[in-house]
Amino acid sequence: MNNKPRVVVIVGRPNVGKSAIFNRLAGGRIAIVHAQSGVTRDRLMREVTWRDERFELIDTGGLCCMDKKTVRDHIEAGIEKQVSVALEDAAVAILVVDIEAGIVPMDNEVAALLRKSGIFTVVAANKADIPEKDHGSDEFTQIGRAVYPVSALHNRGFDSLMKTVVAALPETENTTITNPLRVAIVGHPNVGKSSYINRLLRSDRVIVSNIPGTTRDSIDIPFIVGNGDQARRYVLIDTAGMRKVGKIDSSVERFSHFRSMKSVENADVTVLVLDAISGMTSQDKKIAASILENQKGCVVLINKWDISEITQKKYGPTIFHAMPFMAHCPVVFMSAKTGYNIRKTVEAIDHVAAQIDATIPTGILNKTILDAYERTQPHGVKGRRLKIFYATQVGRCPVRFRLVVNDPRLVYPEYKSYLVRRIREKFGLEGAPIILQFKSRSRKTKC
Ligand code: GDP
Ligand code: GDP
Repeated sequence: MNNKPRVVVIVGRPNVGKSAIFNRLAGGRIAIVHAQSGVTRDRLMREVTWRDERFELIDTGGLCCMDKKTVRDHIEAGIEKQVSVALEDAAVAILVVDIEAGIVPMDNEVAALLRKSGIFTVVAANKADIPEKDHGSDEFTQIGRAVYPVSALHNRGFDSLMKTVVAALPETENTTITNPLRVAIVGHPNVGKSSYINRLLRSDRVIVSNIPGTTRDSIDIPFIVGNGDQARRYVLIDTAGMRKVGKIDSSVERFSHFRSMKSVENADVTVLVLDAISGMTSQDKKIAASILENQKGCVVLINKWDISEITQKKYGPTIFHAMPFMAHCPVVFMSAKTGYNIRKTVEAIDHVAAQIDATIPTGILNKTILDAYERTQPHGVKGRRLKIFYATQVGRCPVRFRLVVNDPRLVYPEYKSYLVRRIREKFGLEGAPIILQFKSRSRKTKC
């Protein structure tokens, strides 16, 4: 358990009051957050501070909107999948039951799932609105050892419940709580950015935090990919949701373009969404150029693949023909409409996120660069030839290498590109910009 992050997950059958408890613990009304941007989620997550103890709270509320029959039908596919994904990430589960209804078979099913996962579980016997109802919690000791009568409606019983929850959390905070990576979804209007964001936030491996930091012209949606120690924390910045005020007049279009540019500046990883049917526009190229200028990681998504009649093999080369400077970026063909390859897009974002943060050992970096030099030597400039002495990595996000040379003025663009290509061949670094700084051994000139 010590390896797990400080994450608490709320589980239970529908209508027992999970959302009410989530709201109570999270200390606010949260359900309407994405009403405007049309984002729907299966799970909510929020950072909570309870009596000075900080942790993340997840509500697995995905089944709350189904009727009883559908719930029955989906018990395997629905609850089990959702709960098991959340459980992998969590240190403690709060199993919510309804004290008025008493134990029902579905409580047993959820409890069995929790037992199977081995997660530390406390039972919140909700709807104990008055003290006289508390004794009803006794029967739930059949499904859990620590049972606490609570009332989300009347704010009763949470101190005792949370004391046990907090005591069971690992002591140190996991790094998943800090430094989220910033992801911007960009592209010209109508390529499907909003549709993609909705899909992305509903996918299995993504948990969405509930409170976006909304500013006048951007929305931040935190989300996590992966589990436990492997979990990585992201913030989706400047989503398309707020743009939908009116239909394209030129000022809206301009505004959208500026927002794309702005969010590129603020991102670590950019996701450039293109429309498979309308292809590459001049605006796309401008956005792509700004991604490059700003030295950001990038994933290219070709959306609306459901209505494309061309094969991926034929389509692929045309993209990089139009923007050769993006050839290092992973491309995913997908459909926000059907969900095709959505998971792959998450993997690609995750992959690029790791690449921009890569550390290359000095020994192998030097070997790669010196081999490249031996293989193709630079031509002379005014009778002198570039010599490379050694290289070291001097930065991450973006990856920066310093090459110590006889004279940086002898470096020409084609040779620089050649070295970058060789570095990519060796280390991958897909989607990540590579910055080479040349420094003279004797002088302090850079280029
Ligand atoms: P969920 O499906 O488990 O997320 O349940 P909800 O939070 O949506 O609550 C289901 C119903 O139970 C709603 O009608 C709530 O108003 C009601 N409810 C939630 N907590 C309490 C409580 O402490 N006491 C009473 N009497 N009703 C509650
Ligand atoms: P945005 O302006 O980039 O946020 O684009 P929207 O998400 O609003 O999508 C623009 C239009 O494209 C809408 O009519 C969507 O229904 C449609 N659309 C989005 N994604 C897809 C897709 O994968 N396939 C198809 N066929 N249509 C899509």
